[in-house]
Amino acid sequence: MVDDTKENKNICIDCQTRLNTLLHNKEFSEAERGLLNRPRRVITFMVPVRMDDGSVKNFDGYRVQYSDARGPGKGGLRFHPDVELEEVKNLAFLMSLKCALVDIPFGGAKGGVAVNPKELSVGEIERLSRSLMRELAPFIGERVDIPAPDVNTNATIMGYMVDEYAKIKGQFIPGVITGKPLSLGGSKGRGEATSLGGAHVLKAYLEAQNINLKGLKVAVQGLGNVGYNIVKILHDWGAVVVAVSDSKRALYKADGLPIDTIFSDEKLADTFTDKSISEITNTELLILPVDVLIPAAISHQITKDNVNQIQAKIILEMANDPITTEADPVLEKLGIVVIPDILANSGGVLVSYFEWIQNSSNDYWTLEKVHKELELKMKQVMNEVLAHCKVGDSSHLRTLSYRLALKRIIEAERARGRV
Ligand code: NAD
Repeated sequence: MVDDTKENKNICIDCQTRLNTLLHNKEFSEAERGLLNRPRRVITFMVPVRMDDGSVKNFDGYRVQYSDARGPGKGGLRFHPDVELEEVKNLAFLMSLKCALVDIPFGGAKGGVAVNPKELSVGEIERLSRSLMRELAPFIGERVDIPAPDVNTNATIMGYMVDEYAKIKGQFIPGVITGKPLSLGGSKGRGEATSLGGAHVLKAYLEAQNINLKGLKVAVQGLGNVGYNIVKILHDWGAVVVAVSDSKRALYKADGLPIDTIFSDEKLADTFTDKSISEITNTELLILPVDVLIPAAISHQITKDNVNQIQAKIILEMANDPITTEADPVLEKLGIVVIPDILANSGGVLVSYFEWIQNSSNDYWTLEKVHKELELKMKQVMNEVLAHCKVGDSSHLRTLSYRLALKRIIEAERARGRV
């Protein structure tokens, strides 16, 4: 039954809203349409941590295994004070679609702990990571559900977690988690994978439209792993990056920022000698008249409140879910092309998949091989989505990508005989 009330607490409201517009009655049965509006498994738990002062604090943890139709769960673990179940469900749903769209043999999952890691010492973060793994261990595994880094978690934390898992199981099983340090079975090229993948997707899109990337004006919101690397890559490839921002500041220069000088240790430098660089707000960055706008920070940045002011021609969604479901149809009406998150930022999970293959085979790839396979796959997926577009109309890449992914998931559900 398609349940459109909120009485069933397992339902993911945002996922259901999307599904209602994506899955048509004629194509899918009622059971099939109802299948993906809630996760298969939701795990909520307590993560106790011994603090430096000897006290014990308990944090709330979540893992949502949204779909297992196409394979084991796959998705990040984040440490952030705003982590809450409904958002984790939505992100796990998006992971399921992403893995299906890129056609890798994974379902989708996501998890996190509601904690502000900036308030914890290095030792407390290690104990938090190990405690999290003790809570998760009964529910994950290299053929069950494979976590990875996400917001505020990184290779070091994955290293603690794979070590804790080894202690619990009595053997080293690197394939249980991806995004690990190289010395523990991580893959070369994982650090820049998401950004490089996004850059290839953008390039493939532009090539299909006969547009040259060189000289295009680009604005990037967010300068973490994803934002910083994509700024560097697109600048190297000849795009003109006119604006960048982190959570505190945004910089703008109409004829292109001097990318080689504005960073110090991968962060925005405090001062600049170039006086033509102006400080703007993050709100202003989003509505600049650029060719390509790249949200690469957090969710829900383009909303019903600012969508009518957007002047970019193309939005490359490197962050997960940066455009709200209310703003999305407005962009389509305005003719602004959105390259959706599940396509644009799928390079990260793709290289995670490469890492998992390398762990299973014990055959480790060169950086050249990782980059080559990433480029091939990203171009292939972009072109596959474009092949479903009507000639000259790419205003609804999200709908096409989501539908392609959903069809693959439902096909696997049918093959399992579950619907
Ligand atoms: P990160 O934590 O390394 O960086 C986030 C950046 O966003 C920081 O520069 C921060 O200052 C900035 N930021 C935070 N709040 C902001 C705000 N209100 N306005 C402007 N900037 C703000 O995270 P990341 O790994 O770079 O991930 C960024 C986004 O990409 C997230 O949505 C994440 O889910 C998504 N993503 C990341 C990966 C990956 O491999 N890292 C893969 C897929 C999707």
